[in-house]
Amino acid sequence: MKTYHSGITRRDFVRRTLTAAGAAATAGNSALMLSDSAKLTAAEPKEKPVTDPNAFLIVDTHQHLWDVSKFTLAWHKEAPKLAKSHVMSDYFAATRGLNVTKTVYMEVDVDPGQQVKEAEYVLDLCQRDDNPMVAAVISGRPADHDTFKNYISKYKDTPQIKGVRQVLHGDGTPAGFCLAPTFVKSVQLLGDLGKSFDLCMRSGELLDGEKLVAQCPKTRFIVDHCGNMSVQDLDEKHRAVWMTGMKALAQRSNVICKISGIIASAKPDSWKPADLEPNIRFTLETFGIDRCIFASDWPVCTLTAPLKDWVDALKSIVRDRSSADQRKLFHDNAVKFYGLKNKAWKAKT
Ligand SMILES: [Zn+2]
Repeated sequence: MKTYHSGITRRDFVRRTLTAAGAAATAGNSALMLSDSAKLTAAEPKEKPVTDPNAFLIVDTHQHLWDVSKFTLAWHKEAPKLAKSHVMSDYFAATRGLNVTKTVYMEVDVDPGQQVKEAEYVLDLCQRDDNPMVAAVISGRPADHDTFKNYISKYKDTPQIKGVRQVLHGDGTPAGFCLAPTFVKSVQLLGDLGKSFDLCMRSGELLDGEKLVAQCPKTRFIVDHCGNMSVQDLDEKHRAVWMTGMKALAQRSNVICKISGIIASAKPDSWKPADLEPNIRFTLETFGIDRCIFASDWPVCTLTAPLKDWVDALKSIVRDRSSADQRKLFHDNAVKFYGLKNKAWKAKT
């Protein structure tokens, strides 16, 4: 079976990071790069200030949903535990009591022929007031520039569509895939349209991401899942390569990072928050608290633990930080970065 840089198999990799379904300023300088709409909406005052840490309002910046009666997801063959519908009612059950007030949908690697259907499916959810989804990152295949340009240009005036992701750690996307000239051109186009691109790549190839970022100064990037370093991979060389890549990305002022995903790389039956802490601490220190945003990666996180356990683990890891910093991580940074608007929906407690 094929193995990756860090010695894991494709099957393990999918299981761990599924991700497969699955800014700014220089490092240390913390201002988020705001869109014009973000500048106008960042300080929306309607939500009550949080004084009780347990009552933090949460923006979930990486919420998957899939209805298997509508969409074909080839990767389900490698992840049978996830191969059933996960729809909004399931998400409500998973997040009950957590004060998730807004979510950003994350594309789920549908069959390319269903990308428009997926975008329309989530746009409908974004426009309705019966759920917390306010924005979406949709699928796309930047390497085919002409097709991609036609596809994404349709959404240039659709404010809920914030960006595009193509997962770059699959069999079809070898190292260097994102550096093909047509791919780069498409990601540059995203910047022209005010959209972002999610970097969801193997932990050993983050420098490819940095080379892409360097060629796309007008595009905003989000590194998914702390750079996809398995918390179980303690090989010093692998970790050094991951750290080098993360530091290089953090030096780019148009990149932020999602604190997410790594729970899926922990041991399902015996993990503890301390297992996740080294990756999270390194990521927070490298990007700075103002350039990190929380994400659930639900339901992929459930391969290891319920969503609530991941939230509790992260809260415990950052408990010694100021409440202002915790609010930034779980809520404020995402609202600013994406320019998220309120809608008439309230979380049940
Ligand atoms: Zn994901």
